[in-house]
Amino acid sequence: MANKVLSPNQLHRNEEFGTCYHSWNEGRYRIALIYPNGYQQGMGNLGFQTVYHLINEREDCLCERFFLPELSSGQGVKSLLSVESDHPLRDFDLIALSISFENDYLHLPAIFAAGNIPMFARQRSDDDPLVLFGGVCAFINPEPFAEMADLIAVGEAEPILSLLLDGLRNDHQQASVQRNELLLALAQLPGVYVPRFYQPSYTEAGITYQCSEAVPKNIKRQYLHDLDSSASRTFIQSNAAEFGHMSLVEVSRGCTRGCRFCAAGFVYLPPRERSLDNLLQQSDEGLCQRNRIGLVAAAIADYSQVVPLQKGIIARGGDISVSSLRLDAIDAEAVALLTQAGHNSVAIAPEAGSQRMRDIINKGLSEEQILSAVHMLADGGIRHLKLYFLIGLPFEEMADIEAIVALVQKVSAIRQAGGKARGHIGNLTVSVNPFIPKPFTPFQWAGMEGEKLLKKKGRLLQSACSRIPNTRYLMESVRLSILQAFLSRGDRRISVMLPELAKGANLRQICSTAGFPLIDELTRERRQDESFAWEIIDSGVQRGYLWREYQRAAQQHLTPPCVPGCCRCGVCN
Ligand code: SF4
Repeated sequence: MANKVLSPNQLHRNEEFGTCYHSWNEGRYRIALIYPNGYQQGMGNLGFQTVYHLINEREDCLCERFFLPELSSGQGVKSLLSVESDHPLRDFDLIALSISFENDYLHLPAIFAAGNIPMFARQRSDDDPLVLFGGVCAFINPEPFAEMADLIAVGEAEPILSLLLDGLRNDHQQASVQRNELLLALAQLPGVYVPRFYQPSYTEAGITYQCSEAVPKNIKRQYLHDLDSSASRTFIQSNAAEFGHMSLVEVSRGCTRGCRFCAAGFVYLPPRERSLDNLLQQSDEGLCQRNRIGLVAAAIADYSQVVPLQKGIIARGGDISVSSLRLDAIDAEAVALLTQAGHNSVAIAPEAGSQRMRDIINKGLSEEQILSAVHMLADGGIRHLKLYFLIGLPFEEMADIEAIVALVQKVSAIRQAGGKARGHIGNLTVSVNPFIPKPFTPFQWAGMEGEKLLKKKGRLLQSACSRIPNTRYLMESVRLSILQAFLSRGDRRISVMLPELAKGANLRQICSTAGFPLIDELTRERRQDESFAWEIIDSGVQRGYLWREYQRAAQQHLTPPCVPGCCRCGVCN
C-alpha cells in the first residue's frame, strides 16, 4: 500500500517545537508565511525557519505556515490552508513569500489562485492582504515577480523585518491609511522595495527605472552585521522535513573566496561568522531534539573555529554533518572527524577540469590539491565521492571539457587503487551543471552557452564517464537550465508568462508569442555600460569591481580571498 500523503496539518501534529509559539488570535497582526514548494523542502530551509521564529517571537504578531500540497501530475492546487490552524490566506493581513529557488516562481500563479488573491499588485484593492516577497531571490533579482509584490525585502530578514512589521502594525492599529500612502511610507525603510513606485524602461542601454523623488533611487541590500545577535537554526523539528534527522545550525554567512560564477558568494558579502560559544549553545538546543547537528555554511571549513566546534559537539555526544567541504581545507584531522561523526560520503566541487578554467572562475585550486584531498578522503574511509563540474563557462574551450575527463580518470584511479587495498571501492558520482550567468557576479555580462553545444559537451562527458569504473554520471537538464537562466535574469516582462509556463507550455513558443527575445536575452554577451534589471538593487558590491573581475577572468588572473576590513569590492566601505 503506497505511503499515505500526509497533509501539512497532519504533518504539523508530528512536529517538535523547541519554542512555544502563539495560537490563532484575532488581536495580533496575522502573517501567512508561504514556502512556494512542498512541506519537506520548506521545513528543511533555515531561512524559512528563521523568519517564522523571528515573527512569532513578537507579542504583537502571529505567523502561520503554508506549503504546496503534494500533487499528482495534472492535479491543481485547490485550496491552501495554514498548517497551524487551517485558516485560508485571505484571513491574514500580510502574505509573505520566502523564495530561495528561481524555478519555484512557476508555483506562484497556483498559490495566488488557490488563495483567491489577485496575482498582480495593480489588481489588488484595500480589502486584499498585502503581499511581501523575501528570500535570497529577492536580493539577487526580484524583477521577475516584482509585478506581484506590494513589498519586497531586499536583504537578510533580521535587519528588515522588525522595522517593516512595526510600520505595518502601526497602520493596522490606525486602519485609516490608504494602501498607496502606507506603501510610500514603508518604501522609506532600509531594504524595503515597493515596485509600484518604479517604472522600468527597456532601451539599447539596457533596463533603467524612473521613480519619483519620494522614494530612494535604488534599494540598498541589508545584511545582519552581528550574527550572534540573532539565532538561525532548526526551530521546529519534523521527521518529514528535508534533513529532518538532524538539527541544522547556521555557522556563518557569505564566503571569502569570490568564485566568479557564484551569486551566493557575492550577495552575502561581507563574510561573517558566529562565535564558538554561540554555536555550541545553539547546538545544545539542537541536541535536545536530535543527536546529529547539521552545520550550515557556504564554506564550513573556512570557519575559524571549525575543529573546536566539531570536537565540542562530539564531546556533547552529538554527530555532525557538514553542508559543504572546500577541497583545500581537507586534511587528515578533518576527515577523521567526519568519519567519527558517521559520514561515509562527501561532495567536493572542482567545478572545472583544467587549471586554466579553474583560474578563470577564480576557484583557486590546483590539481595537486584536488588529488591530495581525494587521497585523504579515501584513506580516511570516506566510501562515496561526488564531484561537481560546470560546463558552458565563459572562455571555455573543448580542451577544458577533455580536462574534466582526465581529472575524473585520475580521481578514479586513486580510489580504485586504495579501494582494492581496503576491499571496498565505493561510488564516484560526476555531477555536471550547465553554467548560468547569475546577477551580481562578475559573469553577469557573459552569455549562456547555446543549447546544442551544451548537449554535445554533455554527451561527450557521459560517454567518457561510462568507460570509467564505478562511476555514475548525472547532468542537469539543459532545458531546465535555460528555464532557470530565463527566470534568474528576467525582468518584469516575464511575470505575465509565468501562468502559461506553470502549465508546462514551451518557453520558446511563449517568448516568441510575447515578442520576448529569449535567445538574445540569454546568450548575448553584454556591453560594460548595459544596465541590468536587477540593478534596481544596490548590492553593495561596486559594479566596477565586478567588471574588473570579469576582465581578470579573461586574463586567467586569480583574485585572493577577501580579508575582512579590506575595501576592494565596496561592501565594507
Ligand atoms: S570589501 Fe573586502 S572584505 Fe569586504 S566584502 Fe569586499 S572584498 Fe570582502
